[in-house]
Amino acid sequence: KSKDKGRGCFTFHTSEMTNEIRRRLALHQDLKEALNADNLFLVYQPKINTVNKQIMGVEALLRWNHPTQGFISPAEFIPIAETHGMMHRLGFRILEQACATMNRLHNQGIDLGVMSVNISPLQLDGDKFQERLIDLLNTYSLSGDVLELELTERIMVEPRTNIDQVLNGLAQQGIKFSLDDFGTGYSSLLRLKHWPFHQLKIAQEFVRDMLIDSNDQEIVKATIALAKNLELEVIAEGVEKNEQLAFLQQHGCYLVQGYLLAYPMTETDLLLWLKEYS
Ligand code: C2E
Ligand code: MG
Ligand code: MG
Ligand code: MG
Repeated sequence: KSKDKGRGCFTFHTSEMTNEIRRRLALHQDLKEALNADNLFLVYQPKINTVNKQIMGVEALLRWNHPTQGFISPAEFIPIAETHGMMHRLGFRILEQACATMNRLHNQGIDLGVMSVNISPLQLDGDKFQERLIDLLNTYSLSGDVLELELTERIMVEPRTNIDQVLNGLAQQGIKFSLDDFGTGYSSLLRLKHWPFHQLKIAQEFVRDMLIDSNDQEIVKATIALAKNLELEVIAEGVEKNEQLAFLQQHGCYLVQGYLLAYPMTETDLLLWLKEYS
């Protein structure tokens, strides 16, 4: 099964390896230029409560339209930004764009609920994250409770100094935390209970195959049950088919994200979509 190989785990022949290294180095250079030129932008994918059809919020997803290679996946270029010490700067640019969008929507009288932003664990290093984030919220007249940070289980596997303090400090400002791609990493259930997460996100790779693979189905069901027991929200991502939605609802997961309901959209397209939706 292809997914057993996991992300970032490849086997190469020497020439392929050289090519891959060359590509990453070139992308690193291009990414630096893109960051300076502001050539990265966010798209927004709704998170929907399928019981009352309400939009709970949107998730910001980063896009890079490379001048010669076209769109490159954030799954490829975020790790490059991380290994080259660009994640602090890039991360704040992302947060700033997300806050600016929320501010513009509020000014038009549009309440989208919560803005979710994916955060790399590296962004939490150093003592300035909380301070800078609160400054940003003030600049855009936003209260902490309109912001949600999506962290993956990496945060538990690669512990950072003062992480408890950082997360709890942010939680005190009303900022929410969602645990992304749940089940793909190595979570400590103990930490999960003690950290201020309010939501578990079932990874899309389980959702994708849950109707054809009984292991994936068991993982999905167990995650929903775990969330219930820990009194956390549970949301499924990557829902593309009606049958998947029906299965999730049947097992008590009503919060959903996926192409079936809405694609990630630019701010302009999101506004048009909202008019149609409501
Ligand atoms: P993620 O946070 O788990 O995001 C979900 C991914 O699934 C997104 O891919 C989204 O476009 C895609 N998706 C949504 N609905 C469906 C669906 O129904 N079917 C399928 N097949 N896919 C769907 P994307 O935008 O390529 O992002 C990939 C990953 O890159 C994200 O996974 C996240 O880990 C990372 N990422 C994206 N934007 C950012 C960012 O601003 N900061 C950081 N640190 N990471 C980011
Ligand atoms: Mg996410
Ligand atoms: Mg995810
Ligand atoms: Mg993912």
